[in-house]
Amino acid sequence: MIEEKALAIDDLLERNGITKDFFMNETYKCMLISIFETIVSEMTEDNVKKELKKRYLCSANKIITTQKIVYEKTLCKLNYEESKILYKYLYAYFTKKNLRKKYDYSVRYGLINKQNGKCNICNHQIDIFTSELDHIVPWTMVGDELGTSNLQMLCKDCNRRKSKNSAYNLKMFLVNKY
Ligand SMILES: [Zn+2]
Repeated sequence: MIEEKALAIDDLLERNGITKDFFMNETYKCMLISIFETIVSEMTEDNVKKELKKRYLCSANKIITTQKIVYEKTLCKLNYEESKILYKYLYAYFTKKNLRKKYDYSVRYGLINKQNGKCNICNHQIDIFTSELDHIVPWTMVGDELGTSNLQMLCKDCNRRKSKNSAYNLKMFLVNKY
């Protein structure tokens, strides 16, 4: 049965011109972002946020502390490398500023080039006029603290549909391909 499912996924991807590498990569990224989102959603309560901040201040190894916090909050067992990524996100959350950073055209052009002139979700052709800058992990959670590695250029439709939904890339790369 499990093998059958694996073959069905392989077939679905192949039929739609999606490489397994891309699929695995997107899935993995989305899983980590979902864990981060879960912890952030708990921090809407001020005392939870304060408590976590305090734990980090007293912590000698912030990565191990992150690993423990993730396990306590979600029962998910992360390894060291994954905990490092989660810590990067959480650090961004704690230090984010309320002011949006302005990215100039060179950043936008650079991203469009990196994406071979295509929207990062639907693969539709984009240029500087038909695309918009998007924060992969939503700005409301990490601000601009993750730098340009958290940026992508999307066509206006994808950007509007994605909004604050960070798992959108995974959800839509199949059904929204042009
Ligand atoms: Zn698009």
